[in-house]
Amino acid sequence: MDYLPVFLDIRGQPCLVVGGDEVAARKSALLLRAGAQVTVHAPTFCAAFDATPVAARVLRRVAGFDEVDIAGFVLAIAATDDSTNRAVAAAARARGIPVNVVDQPALCSFIMPSIIDRSPLIVAVSSGGVSPVLARLLRARLESLIPAGYGRLAALAAEFRDRVKARVQPQQRRRFWERVLQGPIAELVFSGREAEARDALQQTLDDTRLALSGGEVALVGAGPGDPDLLTFRALRLMQQADVVVYDRLVSQPILNLVRVDAERIYAGKERSMHTLPQEDINHLLVRLAKEGKRVVRLKGGDPFIFGRGGEEIDTLAAQGIPFQVVPGITAASGCASYAGIPLTHRDYSQSVVFVTGHLQDGTMNLNWPALAQPRQTIVFYMGLLGIDVLCRNLAAHGLPAATPVALVQQGTTSEQRVITGTLDTMPELVRTSAVKAPTLIIIGEVVRLRERLNWFK
Ligand code: SAH
Repeated sequence: MDYLPVFLDIRGQPCLVVGGDEVAARKSALLLRAGAQVTVHAPTFCAAFDATPVAARVLRRVAGFDEVDIAGFVLAIAATDDSTNRAVAAAARARGIPVNVVDQPALCSFIMPSIIDRSPLIVAVSSGGVSPVLARLLRARLESLIPAGYGRLAALAAEFRDRVKARVQPQQRRRFWERVLQGPIAELVFSGREAEARDALQQTLDDTRLALSGGEVALVGAGPGDPDLLTFRALRLMQQADVVVYDRLVSQPILNLVRVDAERIYAGKERSMHTLPQEDINHLLVRLAKEGKRVVRLKGGDPFIFGRGGEEIDTLAAQGIPFQVVPGITAASGCASYAGIPLTHRDYSQSVVFVTGHLQDGTMNLNWPALAQPRQTIVFYMGLLGIDVLCRNLAAHGLPAATPVALVQQGTTSEQRVITGTLDTMPELVRTSAVKAPTLIIIGEVVRLRERLNWFK
């Protein structure tokens, strides 16, 4: 270990920054965030020093640096682009004041880490000056792992620290906190329901057995297929789940990200061959939650877009089971992006409608005149079997037969295939192309843009 990581308390302490450019302004802002009293020394100051929060809160000294200037400071940062850096470093070292010189590790007595700030929780990453870029990349990865609400969770933990100490035996305390900090109470904090989290924590404290019970359901959108399109929250819940109830549309690479020990229940819906009727899925979720399990109900795309998510949580709500909904990237967004088809475009389309093309008794009961509008993109979900019906009806209601149509099969996955044609030609193309579900149909002038904008191979 070349450096000892420490967290310095500089609240109310005089700290010096030498330099007047943007880097100096950033360093000043950072010191201010840690509560320091900041003095900045420079012959001139860039505009960043006039911006909040730096503007009002730093003391500026318009002057060149002299070694006597360093007296009285507990910490110094040099951020000039000339020999002043060396002078600051020497002066600070002579007086035993910790000094950091930006981009010159050899002159530093301490170096600055990359910071993930979830105050009061702080993570600092350093490559010991060897590769700041690597440290920054690692920082970005950690940012994505640590929910934004971690700071609020830490604050809640701080609030209850003494109460927990008084009530929970020392040998049980760690386990108690582990359950609280990664269970339903933490999730309440992350989803912005802090008052409920506080109540739940108090209840748990009143009856510590509760820390071990309390099931909940998360209705989670898994996106259209590419696991990279999961949200951070979806991934976290999948990795904490006791049981995952998933659909046919949830891709295998995504299922592979579920916690290894979690029970997996397939509730998939094949067209006209429902594995579990919707009614049974709703009750299954209730039963699992009542058994005290952390249930993730994983659905393709977004649970609130043609996903019957509303019905599932309706049953949960009626039974008083705690639940949350995590949005996912819906097939329309995913497929359009990966096919190079912007759903709206200033020149071609001012609106986009998502429609179900599900056939009932061989027909589709849709508002065709409203759909067949110029400068509008129409996205059909579940439209493969009804492709004839929908192309015919749109043409009959006024869309030109040459209106471009794209069919995106298994969008966003490595199996993605895109077939383009027109209202006139698409039904025949589908018959001759051995198309596989799931497929999404995009209709409108924007489909032409694919020729130039297609990027995903
Ligand atoms: N809740 C989902 C939609 C469920 S309805 C969402 O928001 O995406 C199922 C329909 O979605 C399928 O019939 C198909 O039309 C579409 N779909 C879902 N994933 C798809 C994919 N990867 N590629 C193409 N279409 C997809």
